[in-house]
Amino acid sequence: MERVLFWLIVAALVILFSWFVASLPGTVTATVGYTTVTMSVPVLVACVLLALFVLYVLLTLLGALLRLPRRLRARRALARRRAGDAASTRALVALAAGEVGDARREAARARRLLGDTAQTLLLTAEAGERAGRADEATSAFETLTARSDAAFLGYRGLLRQAMDRQDWAEAAVLARQAEQAHPGAVWVRGERARLAVRTGNWTEALALADADAPKAALAAAAAEAEADPARALKLAKQAWKEDPTLAPAALAYARRLRESGAEKRAQTVIRQTWTLAPNPALAEFALAGITDKLARAQAAQRLAQEHLEHPESRFLLASTALAAGLTGEARRQAEAAREAGMNERRLWLLLAEIEEEEGGDTEAGRRAQRDALRHAAAADPDPGWVCENCHVAHATWHPACPNCGAAGTVRWTSMRQQTPQPLLPIAHEPPGELV
Ligand SMILES: [Zn+2]
Repeated sequence: MERVLFWLIVAALVILFSWFVASLPGTVTATVGYTTVTMSVPVLVACVLLALFVLYVLLTLLGALLRLPRRLRARRALARRRAGDAASTRALVALAAGEVGDARREAARARRLLGDTAQTLLLTAEAGERAGRADEATSAFETLTARSDAAFLGYRGLLRQAMDRQDWAEAAVLARQAEQAHPGAVWVRGERARLAVRTGNWTEALALADADAPKAALAAAAAEAEADPARALKLAKQAWKEDPTLAPAALAYARRLRESGAEKRAQTVIRQTWTLAPNPALAEFALAGITDKLARAQAAQRLAQEHLEHPESRFLLASTALAAGLTGEARRQAEAAREAGMNERRLWLLLAEIEEEEGGDTEAGRRAQRDALRHAAAADPDPGWVCENCHVAHATWHPACPNCGAAGTVRWTSMRQQTPQPLLPIAHEPPGELV
């Protein structure tokens, strides 16, 4: 309604203007050279208006003609961008579907159409990696590093590649560059921590450790690697506080305490860890330097006194008693260990030794020894260091598993067989029963 009203007013104004012009009196005479043109005012006005209109149309056409190449270029660019976007989408779909050949082709097409954008370079790299063309991925990542807005993505890709091929020196350099490109990135921190573990840089691994990291293992390893005694003592104490059940942490701390002259404190640390989780290495440390065999048995008693019922305590007391010539006590402790559930080779070998000590070179003694050795052959293997992650056994403790690389997974583990064997009586049974 408003538009109709507007046009009615416009029409009325035009009619009014035309009527006004038509009613103007007078004529205009123009003389150019020998030609004289005379016309009335309304005709002149009409001619002027017509001339303005023609000029306007001509100028508009000229402008359109001049703008034509630019418009054509813009249209072509738009078409390229649309085709490039479509190729990017097809590359993404192919990647998701695992069609690496198509992904590579479409990524290359997208890059050709859209140029080296962060998106096309990432797509090219990803497709190249999936297709096993590491060189293509490397080249795309390197191009990315040159872009100030996406350098982090490039370094991230190159770092991942370096870690995959276990080139730790190159990875360390790239991690620093990634950190510079995007300071404080959580991902870089995690990768640097992983890198530190892989390269055995325990101090850095500990510094970068998050809440879930095995700090006790890392701190114990860092303490072992630390040259400065004061710092080493601090790290070892941290390790032991983090996990007092971890024998290597207790040993690292106790060793540093012993070196600094705090022998009593060292023994307390070892005793406390023994009470929580007995380990032969702790006993070896506690008894080190004691040469008198009876004194060793007494030291073992002091170490195990708060956890006497544990088979490991029983075994320790049995072996030190035997060494001190206390065969009765040795037998009593060995039997107690067996009753507490220990059925390991080392216990049966110890029992064989006890039989040898007690029975001597008699027929009964030899028979009892043979029986114990037969048990030893069928017994559980002795405990050892096993990775909880890959279940590979190691001769010594490692802060990170040499097999799978996981940190803090190597633990002192009983090798008890899956199906528990019935406990067999030792010695004094009639001959033939165990054949
Ligand atoms: Zn492992």
